[in-house]
Amino acid sequence: ELSIENIAKRFGETEVLKGISIDISDGEFVSLVGPSGCGKSTLLRIIAGLEEQSSGDIRISGQSVAGQRAADRNLSMVFQSYALYPHLSVGENIAVPLKMRRMTGLQRLPLLGNIMPGAREARGTIEQDVSHAAQILEIGHLLDRKPGQLSGGQRQRVALGRALVRNPAAFLLDEPLSNLDAKLRVQTRAEIAQLHRQLDATFIYVTHDQVEAMTMSDRIAVMMGGRILQCAAPDVVYEDPDRIEVAEFIGSPK
Ligand code: ATP
Ligand code: MG
Repeated sequence: ELSIENIAKRFGETEVLKGISIDISDGEFVSLVGPSGCGKSTLLRIIAGLEEQSSGDIRISGQSVAGQRAADRNLSMVFQSYALYPHLSVGENIAVPLKMRRMTGLQRLPLLGNIMPGAREARGTIEQDVSHAAQILEIGHLLDRKPGQLSGGQRQRVALGRALVRNPAAFLLDEPLSNLDAKLRVQTRAEIAQLHRQLDATFIYVTHDQVEAMTMSDRIAVMMGGRILQCAAPDVVYEDPDRIEVAEFIGSPK
């Protein structure tokens, strides 16, 4: 379970998040929607450990992740801009988190005798993990290409592969499809939904696309002005918005 407890965030004088609390069960798919600037990305970045909250706590399976670096949290974030390394191949891009994990692991090991067998073992696993992730995302045939030789949809799948390879407890996706054209968006949306079913992992999914939120989510959290106004199953949010602001936001096209 992922527990977000009363998270607040200030940038200077501006309070961007004003006490966000939400409990997300294992395997749940929660979409985060709300107007531009309401704090969705900031919240996701705080959960990922890329930004520090001003107050509040985050627990994964009851354990606080306070002070844990992003790399040590068992979470994977995927951005709208795929943020791939242009000079690395697809396979190398997907392997980056595993190599980083291994390197930081090595630094912590005090004895050479401990390093060597572990390193050998890890090397085998990296290739296997990359190939497994690529297989799930159907990009196995692209592993030797550079990101510049891929379509937008393929690039996004590589970014998903890089998230997947960490075998995270939760995926944090920040508008992952917004750079794709309408047709590819529908297709990739279905693939993400399938990935969710297949992995049974927790997803927090930020989107501007209400159809996306409707069709993919177990629950939709409607955020406004740094607060979650309502968090409920899609049909409840649509048919029974519990505030006028929610009704207005959900009712407005885009
Ligand atoms: P969008 O839908 O446009 O992506 P969002 O809901 O993701 O918006 P955030 O990016 O979380 O919104 O930003 C929330 C508010 O915090 C905005 O007013 C933004 O200007 C402000 N903000 C975000 N990052 C910083 C920062 N590093 N320094 C100062 N203000 C920031
Ligand atoms: Mg954002």
